[in-house]
Amino acid sequence: MKQDYRIVYSERKTLSIIVERDRSILVRAPKSMSEEEVQQLVDEKKLWLYEKIHHPQKYPPDPVKKEFTTGETILYMGRNYRLELTNEKFDEIRFNSCFFVSRYQKARAGDLFQAWYMERAREKLLPRIRHFAEAMGVSYNRLLISDLKYRWASCTPKNNLNFNWRIIKAPVLVIDYLIVHELAHLLEPNHSPKFWNIIAVQLPEFEKPKKWLKDYGYKLEEDF
Ligand SMILES: [Zn+2]
Repeated sequence: MKQDYRIVYSERKTLSIIVERDRSILVRAPKSMSEEEVQQLVDEKKLWLYEKIHHPQKYPPDPVKKEFTTGETILYMGRNYRLELTNEKFDEIRFNSCFFVSRYQKARAGDLFQAWYMERAREKLLPRIRHFAEAMGVSYNRLLISDLKYRWASCTPKNNLNFNWRIIKAPVLVIDYLIVHELAHLLEPNHSPKFWNIIAVQLPEFEKPKKWLKDYGYKLEEDF
């Protein structure tokens, strides 16, 4: 099976392979790399790509845009918190069992929320990812929290792991499941019995978060 893909060359140093929402494959490659070299690296990732393209969780309905009005709810670590627009002037997102945003920042609220979530994601996800990677014996080069548009996580051929900050919206058990699921793919590309065994060792109750994702996973995709 040969995968079709688009190559975009630029001044970058490493190759990255992205599966887009429409399931097409975009390869970003350094200018110095020949097409044969790119093909070889893509071939090495063939099973991984096959799995990504056939992945059932990755393509939820189109996300709903927030309007940032008082009373709107915002999902954070599995709970919906009320948004309150205040008359006070301040720049940041304030959180205290409720989200507070200055009404003067309403136009920027989406960016402010994304920055706030990104920070929380780094703080809370990175230690959990490291913990599971160690428990599962998965090695990587660099670990990053990124703004991945269409995926929960990605791995470059250079073994850099990227996790989507949006994962922080989910309940803890779902967060752990998404982490373990992605790490397990570094050991086993397909959803084989071996794959589910790897997951069960870490999360014996993995059917619960799996069901949550099936029912509510699209909520994680909702943008600001
Ligand atoms: Zn998978």
